[in-house]
Amino acid sequence: MANATVSLSIHFDAVSTWLWSFDSWDMPTRHSRGVYGADVGAPRLLDLLDQYDIPSTWCIPGHTIESFPEICEEVHSHGHGVQHHGWSHQGPSTFESKEAEYHDIEWGIESIRGLTGEKPTGYASPAWDFSEHTLDILQELGFEWDSSVMAADFRPHYLYGGWAAPEDGPYQRGEPTDLIELPVSWERDDFPPFTYTWSRPHRMGYVPEDAIFQKWYDQFDWMYEHVENGVFVLTLHPQVIGQAHRLMRLEAFLQHVQSKPEATFKTMDDVATDFRKANPKTS
Ligand SMILES: [Zn+2]
Repeated sequence: MANATVSLSIHFDAVSTWLWSFDSWDMPTRHSRGVYGADVGAPRLLDLLDQYDIPSTWCIPGHTIESFPEICEEVHSHGHGVQHHGWSHQGPSTFESKEAEYHDIEWGIESIRGLTGEKPTGYASPAWDFSEHTLDILQELGFEWDSSVMAADFRPHYLYGGWAAPEDGPYQRGEPTDLIELPVSWERDDFPPFTYTWSRPHRMGYVPEDAIFQKWYDQFDWMYEHVENGVFVLTLHPQVIGQAHRLMRLEAFLQHVQSKPEATFKTMDDVATDFRKANPKTS
């Protein structure tokens, strides 16, 4: 089995994650960790991807685009995909209304249009959170694909909608929609294991790097051996992966993928487009 695809999903949160996800509005040293992502991590990551001629997808909150326009312009001018990750980094389920969530997503579209001249085709939700309205909003705004859901690991699929979770009956998963899902996993994300925070005990940091990278190698190798046309979405944050001791390990991992004869790197938009062509929706 093979014909494997690796898609790097680079969540360029910069300061936004510290503001909305960690409620650190008055804490400039926390802000500085996001500034590091924009000033140090992102340029290093761009250089590495250039060196190996690897396409990637940067999911960028509008807040980052408007706060750090030069480096976002660099991302775009280097040919990487730019896709939606909220305007803010507020979890969709925490908006007070559908209208407020809709406004944030619409605002994020305009920020990306200002950077690339084009509307984004895909969405990765902040912290992979979905409200009961998110799927409807994505469809209303014409998105082609999402990458926030974990019902599969290596197989893109049409995302189910119309689910129900009654207290007095079985879970009802709903029906496939037209939106393609590129599945993600907390097991293929650099932020939770590597980021030390004292406000969220489950985000510990100080984990040995090799233990986490080994999980990525194992998942990729298993997919390569067992899944035909598998897609391995790896989520990276410039402020996390851009640190020296991780960047050197990422480089080795990229070399490992490139050493496999039937593995290629693709942008997420290319993966979604290929999937739709190979699996046209009939109903
Ligand atoms: Zn994020």
